[in-house]
Amino acid sequence: MINFQYARADDVADAVRRIAAHGNAKFIAGGTNLIDLMKANVERPARLIDISRLPLDRVEETKGGGLRIGALVPNSDLAWHPLVQQRYPLLSSAILAGASAQLRNMASTGGNLLQRTRCLYFYDTATPCNKREPGSGCSAIEGLNRMHAILGTSKACIATHPADMCVALAALEAMVHVSGLTGERSIAFADFHRLPGDTPQRDSNLEPNEIITAVELPARGFAANYSYLKIRDRLSYAFALVSVAAALELDGGNIKEARLALGGVAHKPWRNPVAEAALRGKAADEAAFGQAADLLLRGAKGYGHNDFKIELARRAIIRALTQAARATPQSQSDKKIR
Ligand SMILES: Cc1cc2nc3c(=O)[nH]c(=O)nc-3n(C[C@H](O)[C@H](O)[C@H](O)COP(=O)(O)OP(=O)(O)OC[C@H]3O[C@@H](n4cnc5c(N)ncnc54)[C@H](O)[C@@H]3O)c2cc1C
Ligand code: SF4
Repeated sequence: MINFQYARADDVADAVRRIAAHGNAKFIAGGTNLIDLMKANVERPARLIDISRLPLDRVEETKGGGLRIGALVPNSDLAWHPLVQQRYPLLSSAILAGASAQLRNMASTGGNLLQRTRCLYFYDTATPCNKREPGSGCSAIEGLNRMHAILGTSKACIATHPADMCVALAALEAMVHVSGLTGERSIAFADFHRLPGDTPQRDSNLEPNEIITAVELPARGFAANYSYLKIRDRLSYAFALVSVAAALELDGGNIKEARLALGGVAHKPWRNPVAEAALRGKAADEAAFGQAADLLLRGAKGYGHNDFKIELARRAIIRALTQAARATPQSQSDKKIR
C-alpha cells in the first residue's frame, strides 16, 4: 500500500493552486482510470486533488450555435443529452460504444480525454515500457502488439489512445478549454493529444498544472449523415481494434463536406485533412470512399500481430462512410458493404 494524501478543491482556481503546490499531485474526477492505475502501481501520486464537485457539470449552448460541455459532465449524461442527441448524434453514438453503463455514469468528459493507453505492458510493471518508465524500452514492438498502433508510431512507443468519445470530438473539430496558473487557453482538438515521438510519457499538450474546464463543439454537427463504427473483439465492453467516426454533408449525391477520424490505430485520434479534401465535390460512392481510406491510411505499418488492422481499417472506413451517406448510421448487415 502506497500512502497518498487527499484534498478536495473548492473551485477551479483552488484546484490549479493545489496541483501546482505539489510536484507529484493528480486530479481525480470519476476515478475510473486513475484508481485502476494506482492499484496496478503504474500511477503513484503523493496527493489526489478531488475535482469531482466543481461546478463544471453543465452542457450549455454557445452564442455561435455550438455547445460548451463542462469537464465534469458524466459520459452518460452527455450521450443522452437532448441537444447532443439531436445535433451531435455522432458524439452520442461514440460515447455509447465505450465501456459499460456503470462506467459511463462515473466517467467524466475531461477524464475521458486523459485516460491512458490500454497497452498491457504499460500496466505490467515487471516489463520495460517507455511510457511508464522513460528510457526503459518498449516491450510491445517485438511483443504482443495485436491492439497496437499502425500510424504515427515511433521507435519508443506504438501504443494507441483508447477513447471512443475522442474520435468523434476530433471529427467534430472540438476545442478544449483549460485553465492554469497563467490563465485560460483553448486548444484545438487536433493539437490536444500527441504522437509518441521520443517522449511517449506525455500523452497530451496539457501542461502539468492545467485543468480541463470544458470541451466546446462548433455549430456544425453533421446530424443527418454520420456513423461511428467500432470494430472490437466482443460486441460490448471492449476497446476498439479500429473505430471510425465518419461525418458527411451531402448535396444530392455529392459530398459538400467530409470528416473522418480513426480510433484504435494511433497514439491520438487519427485524421488527415488531405483525405477529407479528396472527398469534397465527389459523388458519395465506394470509389471515393476507397480513395479517402487509402489517403488516411498512407504510411500505415504493422508490427506483426497487428498487421491485419491495415485492411480492417480500410474496410471499416468504407463501411462507415457508406453508412453515413445512406443515413443508416448503425447498419450492421448491408450486403452491398464489404
Ligand atoms: C473496464 C473498462 C472499460 C472501458 N472501456 C472503454 C471504452 O470502450 N471506450 C472508452 O472510450 N473508454 C473506456 N473506458 C475508459 C473510461 O471511459 C475512462 O476511464 C473514463 O472516461 C475516465 O474518466 P474519469 O473521470 O473516471 O477519469 P479519472 O480516472 O478520474 O482521471 C483520468 C485522468 O484524467 C485526469 N483528469 C481527470 N479530469 C481532469 C480535468 N478536468 N483536468 C485535468 N486532468 C483531469 C486525472 O488526473 C487522470 O490522470 C473503460 C474503462 C474501464 C475501467
Ligand atoms: S507501446 Fe508504449 S505503452 Fe506499450 S510497452 Fe511500448 S512504450 Fe510502453
